[in-house]
Amino acid sequence: MKTEKLWLGAHTSAAGGVQNALLEGKQIGASIVQLFTSNQKRWEGKVLGEKEIQAWQKALEETGIEQVMSHDSYLINLGSPNGEVLEKSKKAFREEAIRCQQLGISYLNFHPGAALQGGEQQCLDCICESLIGMQDLLENSSTRLLLEATAGQGSAVGWRFEHLAYIINQVQHKLPIGVCIDTCHIFAAGYDIRTPAAWNATLEEFDRVVGLNHLYAFHLNDSAKGLGSRVDRHQPLGKGQIGIESFQFLMKDSRTKDLPKYLETPGGTELWEVEIQMLQDFAKHPSSRD
Ligand SMILES: [Zn+2]
Ligand SMILES: [Zn+2]
Repeated sequence: MKTEKLWLGAHTSAAGGVQNALLEGKQIGASIVQLFTSNQKRWEGKVLGEKEIQAWQKALEETGIEQVMSHDSYLINLGSPNGEVLEKSKKAFREEAIRCQQLGISYLNFHPGAALQGGEQQCLDCICESLIGMQDLLENSSTRLLLEATAGQGSAVGWRFEHLAYIINQVQHKLPIGVCIDTCHIFAAGYDIRTPAAWNATLEEFDRVVGLNHLYAFHLNDSAKGLGSRVDRHQPLGKGQIGIESFQFLMKDSRTKDLPKYLETPGGTELWEVEIQMLQDFAKHPSSRD
């Protein structure tokens, strides 16, 4: 019997070199990982040296890890109404994309942006302009940019599927783009995913507004805060307001089971190893409800 490969991993640590994120992934039984390719809290991005790139290649071969996702710096706001911050953001994002290309990374996940004192529509248009400005670098790139669905905390955009659809429609013919759904974020944004029926309705809404063909990946997190709270607080799977049934569904539904899923749960390697094993079991065994 042929067993399908499951794409499960976590956001591992690149401390001491990007290759360490791959090695940590292997240790926890991951087939994929997400990492920061530079310090996520600094504007000056890291420039990758030849040695580090070689160490990365070697670790890729040794671990067999594929579908690597990079998460961009938290400082970047491609929709900033502040001209200086916007320029710094565009420069830093370009450097993020270059590092991804150097490392052969599949996905560059980013938070679309925050409107701050500006308007939401202005922010969305600014994000589109910023992205289109990088067409020269990205149009033939093997790294796909993924808009992360947000919780809508503060003035963040990207918490409505309509925001994601708007950006995709503007840029999809100019550079590779898609969506990464973070389960904690969409739940906090008001999309119910606690039961199979709720997931069905949410996936149908996503398909109608954005299109499931644009969905490439998931961040798996339970949520400390309730439905529609617009507060982004991750919890271990099954230990928050979403509940474990939601993650069982994702490992079984034909629309979602084969997509890469990256854990960002608070707990580190020990927890992730257990959660990966649990998700693998969900894919194998029918739940008592089926
Ligand atoms: Zn996330
Ligand atoms: Zn989050």
